Amino acid sequence: MTDPRAPLFAANWKMHKGPVDTVAFVEEFVRAYAPRADATVVFFPPSLSLQAFAGAAADRPDLELGVQDVHPETEGAHTGAISAPMVAQTGATWGLAGHSERRREFGDDDAVVGRKLARLLEASLRPILCVGETLEEREAGELRPVLARQVGVALDALDERDRERLVYAYEPVWAIGTGRTASHSDASEAHAIVREAIARGTGSGRADAALVLYGGSVKPANIAELLAADGVDGVLVGGASLDPESFAAICSAGRG
Ligand code: PEP
Repeated sequence: MTDPRAPLFAANWKMHKGPVDTVAFVEEFVRAYAPRADATVVFFPPSLSLQAFAGAAADRPDLELGVQDVHPETEGAHTGAISAPMVAQTGATWGLAGHSERRREFGDDDAVVGRKLARLLEASLRPILCVGETLEEREAGELRPVLARQVGVALDALDERDRERLVYAYEPVWAIGTGRTASHSDASEAHAIVREAIARGTGSGRADAALVLYGGSVKPANIAELLAADGVDGVLVGGASLDPESFAAICSAGRG
Protein backbone atom coordinates (compact mmCIF):
# COMPACT_ATOMS: atom_id res chain seq x y z
CA MET A 1 0.00 0.00 0.00
CA THR A 2 1.51 3.30 -1.03
CA ASP A 3 -0.67 5.92 0.70
CA PRO A 4 0.54 6.21 4.33
CA ARG A 5 -2.84 7.68 5.22
CA ALA A 6 -4.99 5.08 3.43
CA PRO A 7 -8.05 4.46 5.65
CA LEU A 8 -7.73 2.02 8.51
CA PHE A 9 -10.78 0.13 9.79
CA ALA A 10 -10.30 -1.49 13.20
CA ALA A 11 -12.67 -3.79 15.11
CA ASN A 12 -12.45 -3.81 18.90
CA TRP A 13 -14.47 -6.81 20.08
CA LYS A 14 -13.84 -6.11 23.79
CA MET A 15 -15.08 -9.06 25.90
CA HIS A 16 -17.07 -10.69 23.10
CA LYS A 17 -16.46 -13.82 20.99
CA GLY A 18 -14.57 -16.85 22.21
CA PRO A 19 -12.58 -19.02 19.77
CA VAL A 20 -15.63 -20.85 18.38
CA ASP A 21 -17.59 -17.62 17.78
CA THR A 22 -14.49 -16.08 16.22
CA VAL A 23 -14.18 -18.81 13.59
CA ALA A 24 -17.89 -18.45 12.74
CA PHE A 25 -17.47 -14.65 12.41
CA VAL A 26 -14.48 -14.97 10.07
CA GLU A 27 -16.37 -17.44 7.84
CA GLU A 28 -19.23 -14.93 7.44
CA PHE A 29 -17.04 -11.85 7.17
CA VAL A 30 -14.89 -13.22 4.31
CA ARG A 31 -18.07 -13.86 2.34
CA ALA A 32 -19.28 -10.29 2.91
CA TYR A 33 -16.03 -8.34 2.48
CA ALA A 34 -13.83 -8.44 -0.62
CA PRO A 35 -10.19 -7.45 -0.04
CA ARG A 36 -9.43 -3.87 -1.05
CA ALA A 37 -5.89 -2.70 -1.69
CA ASP A 38 -6.55 0.88 -0.58
CA ALA A 39 -7.39 0.23 3.07
CA THR A 40 -6.17 -1.66 6.14
CA VAL A 41 -8.52 -3.83 8.21
CA VAL A 42 -7.47 -4.94 11.71
CA PHE A 43 -9.36 -7.08 14.25
CA PHE A 44 -8.84 -6.97 18.00
CA PRO A 45 -10.53 -10.09 19.39
CA PRO A 46 -10.12 -11.13 23.03
CA SER A 47 -6.60 -12.54 23.49
CA LEU A 48 -8.04 -16.04 24.01
CA SER A 49 -9.34 -15.92 20.43
CA LEU A 50 -6.22 -14.58 18.67
CA GLN A 51 -5.02 -17.95 17.47
CA ALA A 52 -8.50 -19.01 16.36
CA PHE A 53 -8.71 -15.82 14.30
CA ALA A 54 -5.24 -16.35 12.81
CA GLY A 55 -6.14 -19.92 11.79
CA ALA A 56 -9.56 -19.03 10.36
CA ALA A 57 -8.17 -16.09 8.36
CA ALA A 58 -4.97 -17.83 7.24
CA ASP A 59 -5.80 -17.37 3.57
CA ARG A 60 -6.87 -13.72 4.04
CA PRO A 61 -3.65 -11.84 4.86
CA ASP A 62 -5.55 -8.59 4.29
CA LEU A 63 -7.34 -9.19 7.61
CA GLU A 64 -4.77 -8.11 10.19
CA LEU A 65 -4.80 -9.03 13.84
CA GLY A 66 -4.08 -7.24 17.09
CA VAL A 67 -4.34 -7.56 20.86
CA GLN A 68 -6.60 -5.40 23.05
CA ASP A 69 -4.17 -5.10 25.95
CA VAL A 70 -0.79 -6.29 27.24
CA HIS A 71 0.95 -6.12 30.62
CA PRO A 72 3.54 -3.35 31.01
CA GLU A 73 6.23 -5.98 31.81
CA THR A 74 7.46 -8.68 29.43
CA GLU A 75 7.17 -11.62 31.86
CA GLY A 76 6.91 -12.47 35.53
CA ALA A 77 4.55 -13.25 38.39
CA HIS A 78 1.43 -11.47 37.07
CA THR A 79 -1.39 -14.00 37.29
CA GLY A 80 -3.90 -13.74 34.47
CA ALA A 81 -1.87 -11.27 32.42
CA ILE A 82 -0.38 -11.67 28.96
CA SER A 83 2.70 -9.99 27.54
CA ALA A 84 3.54 -8.42 24.20
CA PRO A 85 6.15 -11.06 23.23
CA MET A 86 3.56 -13.83 23.80
CA VAL A 87 1.09 -12.03 21.59
CA ALA A 88 3.65 -11.73 18.79
CA GLN A 89 3.81 -15.57 18.70
CA THR A 90 0.14 -15.75 17.65
CA GLY A 91 0.73 -13.88 14.39
CA ALA A 92 -0.78 -10.64 15.70
CA THR A 93 0.96 -7.47 14.52
CA TRP A 94 -1.04 -4.72 16.28
CA GLY A 95 -1.93 -3.72 19.85
CA LEU A 96 -4.29 -1.25 21.53
CA ALA A 97 -3.19 0.86 24.50
CA GLY A 98 -5.01 3.49 26.51
CA HIS A 99 -8.59 2.47 25.67
CA SER A 100 -10.94 4.41 27.97
CA GLU A 101 -12.37 1.15 29.36
CA ARG A 102 -8.85 0.13 30.46
CA ARG A 103 -8.26 3.58 31.93
CA ARG A 104 -11.58 3.55 33.80
CA GLU A 105 -11.97 -0.11 34.88
CA PHE A 106 -8.33 -1.15 35.34
CA GLY A 107 -6.68 2.12 36.35
CA ASP A 108 -4.35 2.42 33.35
CA ASP A 109 -2.98 5.94 33.73
CA ASP A 110 -0.90 7.80 31.14
CA ALA A 111 2.38 6.47 32.55
CA VAL A 112 1.19 2.83 32.39
CA VAL A 113 -0.10 3.42 28.88
CA GLY A 114 3.36 4.70 27.91
CA ARG A 115 4.99 1.53 29.28
CA LYS A 116 2.51 -0.64 27.40
CA LEU A 117 3.29 1.21 24.18
CA ALA A 118 6.98 0.57 24.74
CA ARG A 119 6.40 -3.19 25.28
CA LEU A 120 4.24 -3.42 22.15
CA LEU A 121 6.89 -1.70 20.06
CA GLU A 122 9.71 -3.88 21.44
CA ALA A 123 7.69 -6.92 20.33
CA SER A 124 7.23 -5.40 16.86
CA LEU A 125 3.51 -4.88 17.42
CA ARG A 126 2.19 -1.62 15.99
CA PRO A 127 0.32 0.32 18.68
CA ILE A 128 -2.90 2.26 18.42
CA LEU A 129 -2.92 4.81 21.24
CA CYS A 130 -6.49 5.64 22.29
CA VAL A 131 -7.20 9.08 23.74
CA GLY A 132 -10.37 10.97 24.52
CA GLU A 133 -12.17 13.19 26.98
CA THR A 134 -15.07 12.37 29.30
CA LEU A 135 -18.28 14.39 29.11
CA GLU A 136 -17.34 16.22 32.34
CA GLU A 137 -13.94 17.17 30.88
CA ARG A 138 -15.56 18.37 27.64
CA GLU A 139 -18.15 20.44 29.51
CA ALA A 140 -15.41 21.95 31.70
CA GLY A 141 -13.60 23.15 28.54
CA GLU A 142 -10.75 20.68 29.04
CA LEU A 143 -10.78 18.98 25.65
CA ARG A 144 -7.44 20.44 24.55
CA PRO A 145 -5.43 19.90 27.78
CA VAL A 146 -6.75 16.35 28.23
CA LEU A 147 -5.83 15.28 24.69
CA ALA A 148 -2.47 17.09 24.87
CA ARG A 149 -1.61 15.33 28.15
CA GLN A 150 -2.66 11.86 26.97
CA VAL A 151 -0.65 12.13 23.74
CA GLY A 152 2.30 13.98 25.31
CA VAL A 153 2.89 11.64 28.26
CA ALA A 154 2.65 8.58 26.01
CA LEU A 155 5.14 9.97 23.49
CA ASP A 156 7.56 10.96 26.26
CA ALA A 157 7.84 7.27 27.19
CA LEU A 158 9.17 6.36 23.73
CA ASP A 159 12.39 7.04 21.94
CA GLU A 160 12.27 9.17 18.84
CA ARG A 161 12.46 6.34 16.32
CA ASP A 162 9.50 4.51 17.87
CA ARG A 163 7.20 7.52 17.90
CA GLU A 164 6.56 7.38 14.18
CA ARG A 165 5.20 3.81 14.46
CA LEU A 166 2.21 4.97 16.50
CA VAL A 167 -1.34 5.17 15.20
CA TYR A 168 -3.81 7.27 17.24
CA ALA A 169 -7.52 6.88 17.93
CA TYR A 170 -9.56 9.82 19.16
CA GLU A 171 -12.45 8.31 21.09
CA PRO A 172 -14.66 10.73 23.04
CA VAL A 173 -15.62 8.69 26.09
CA TRP A 174 -19.20 10.00 25.94
CA ALA A 175 -19.60 8.50 22.46
CA ILE A 176 -18.35 4.98 23.23
CA GLY A 177 -21.16 2.44 23.26
CA THR A 178 -23.74 5.19 23.86
CA GLY A 179 -25.14 5.63 20.37
CA ARG A 180 -23.98 9.29 20.49
CA THR A 181 -21.49 10.18 17.78
CA ALA A 182 -19.27 13.22 17.56
CA SER A 183 -20.47 15.61 14.87
CA HIS A 184 -18.38 16.14 11.77
CA SER A 185 -17.03 19.41 13.25
CA ASP A 186 -16.42 17.96 16.77
CA ALA A 187 -14.37 15.17 15.17
CA SER A 188 -12.39 17.58 12.96
CA GLU A 189 -11.66 19.90 15.91
CA ALA A 190 -10.48 17.07 18.17
CA HIS A 191 -8.41 15.45 15.42
CA ALA A 192 -6.65 18.76 14.82
CA ILE A 193 -5.85 19.00 18.55
CA VAL A 194 -4.49 15.43 18.56
CA ARG A 195 -2.36 16.22 15.52
CA GLU A 196 -0.97 19.37 17.20
CA ALA A 197 -0.01 17.27 20.22
CA ILE A 198 1.68 14.72 17.94
CA ALA A 199 3.56 17.57 16.28
CA ARG A 200 4.80 18.83 19.66
CA GLY A 201 5.93 15.32 20.61
CA THR A 202 7.45 14.21 17.33
CA GLY A 203 8.07 17.11 14.97
CA SER A 204 5.44 18.41 12.57
CA GLY A 205 6.50 16.34 9.53
CA ARG A 206 5.59 13.20 11.39
CA ALA A 207 2.30 14.64 12.61
CA ASP A 208 1.15 15.15 9.03
CA ALA A 209 1.90 11.54 8.22
CA ALA A 210 0.33 10.09 11.39
CA LEU A 211 -2.90 8.13 11.12
CA VAL A 212 -5.59 9.41 13.48
CA LEU A 213 -8.74 7.26 13.74
CA TYR A 214 -12.13 8.22 15.14
CA GLY A 215 -14.00 5.89 17.53
CA GLY A 216 -17.40 6.18 19.20
CA SER A 217 -20.65 4.58 18.01
CA VAL A 218 -19.47 4.22 14.39
CA LYS A 219 -21.97 2.29 12.26
CA PRO A 220 -22.78 1.76 8.58
CA ALA A 221 -25.17 4.73 8.67
CA ASN A 222 -22.56 7.29 9.80
CA ILE A 223 -19.27 5.93 8.41
CA ALA A 224 -19.30 8.02 5.21
CA GLU A 225 -19.84 11.29 7.11
CA LEU A 226 -17.13 10.49 9.66
CA LEU A 227 -14.58 9.47 7.03
CA ALA A 228 -15.26 12.73 5.21
CA ALA A 229 -14.34 14.82 8.29
CA ASP A 230 -11.01 16.64 8.08
CA GLY A 231 -8.16 14.69 9.63
CA VAL A 232 -10.11 11.43 10.12
CA ASP A 233 -8.01 8.60 8.68
CA GLY A 234 -10.15 5.67 9.68
CA VAL A 235 -12.25 4.29 12.51
CA LEU A 236 -12.05 2.11 15.61
CA VAL A 237 -15.38 0.30 15.94
CA GLY A 238 -16.78 -1.51 18.96
CA GLY A 239 -20.43 -2.63 18.89
CA ALA A 240 -20.95 -2.49 15.12
CA SER A 241 -17.88 -4.67 14.51
CA LEU A 242 -19.49 -7.67 16.21
CA ASP A 243 -21.79 -8.30 13.28
CA PRO A 244 -19.99 -9.49 10.11
CA GLU A 245 -22.38 -7.77 7.65
CA SER A 246 -22.28 -4.50 9.54
CA PHE A 247 -18.50 -4.39 9.85
CA ALA A 248 -18.11 -5.44 6.20
CA ALA A 249 -20.30 -2.46 5.21
CA ILE A 250 -18.13 -0.13 7.31
CA CYS A 251 -14.90 -1.50 5.79
CA SER A 252 -16.28 -1.05 2.29
CA ALA A 253 -16.93 2.68 2.78
CA GLY A 254 -15.00 5.32 0.88
CA ARG A 255 -14.09 8.88 1.83
CA GLY A 256 -17.32 10.19 0.29
C1 PEP B 1 -14.58 1.33 21.17
O1 PEP B 1 -14.71 0.48 22.01
O2 PEP B 1 -13.43 1.67 20.88
C2 PEP B 1 -15.77 1.91 20.57
C3 PEP B 1 -15.61 2.96 19.82
O3 PEP B 1 -16.99 1.32 20.84
P1 PEP B 1 -18.40 1.64 20.13
O4 PEP B 1 -18.17 1.63 18.63
O5 PEP B 1 -19.31 0.53 20.57
O6 PEP B 1 -18.84 2.98 20.60
